[in-house]
Amino acid sequence: IAVGDQSGDKEPENKGVQNTIAVASGKGGVGKSTVAVNLAIALAEQDYNVALVDTDIYGPSIPTMMGMQGKKPRVNDQRKIEPLEKHGIKLLSMGFMVDPDKAVIWRGPMVTKAIRQFLGDVHWGEIDYMVLDLPPGTGDIQLTIVQTIPLTGAIIVSTPQNVALDDARKGVAMFDNVDVPVLGIVENMAYFTPPDLPDRKYYLFGEHGAQDLARELEVPFLGEIPIEQSVREGGDEGEPVVLRNPDSLSSQAFRQIAERS
Ligand code: ADP
Repeated sequence: IAVGDQSGDKEPENKGVQNTIAVASGKGGVGKSTVAVNLAIALAEQDYNVALVDTDIYGPSIPTMMGMQGKKPRVNDQRKIEPLEKHGIKLLSMGFMVDPDKAVIWRGPMVTKAIRQFLGDVHWGEIDYMVLDLPPGTGDIQLTIVQTIPLTGAIIVSTPQNVALDDARKGVAMFDNVDVPVLGIVENMAYFTPPDLPDRKYYLFGEHGAQDLARELEVPFLGEIPIEQSVREGGDEGEPVVLRNPDSLSSQAFRQIAERS
């Protein structure tokens, strides 16, 4: 990846990465990692070379969601990390580097160093889309990451509820501040349709909140993902819903998001 060296005396390490898309959320638990994983898979289905990078040092969930817990990437003869591969995607997670049972308490400068090393010392090869799962929130750590890595754009994930939307708004502001284009907002957990009542939509977290926010902030709305059991199961069992249940409404939404990104 083209890791931006702020001192300016170092060339980007990896010129083979064409686009880098950060997936961010103001709040935790809104489905940011779920969107990152399924977006990456939907892009790979379109025959792009895709990398998925989990920078969520505090709660890396990509290893579980991709069925790669406990795996360790290899270091090659050039002393570069070889990303792992799963479901046709190159994969790297801070979760592969730290002990999953130990809490990580890092301050900003350590995170910057770790992220640079983590991304700069990797043999990525040719990548059309690198999808970056950011830690939740819009604090110093997130700001450091988005300033360390040259980003093509950012996607903000939110549920339709007010507490999540308030934080999503901060997310858009953060990317605006560092001149990273916001590619759009994704509304996750938009509604629930019981399998035995296929015509019903229950708006458990409120109706269209993220869509309204996108309109208000004049950023694109990328799609709404319903609450579905197979999304959660796919995440827990390492087989993302786009692969596990390709005809589901959520899978269709993820493919639409990939096309619009
Ligand atoms: P975040 O990255 O924002 O913390 P996750 O992607 O880890 O959130 O999602 C939190 C939990 O919610 C996970 O168990 C995930 O499987 C589940 N989840 C996310 N989106 C959906 C959805 N649309 N339907 C059902 N479960 C979902």
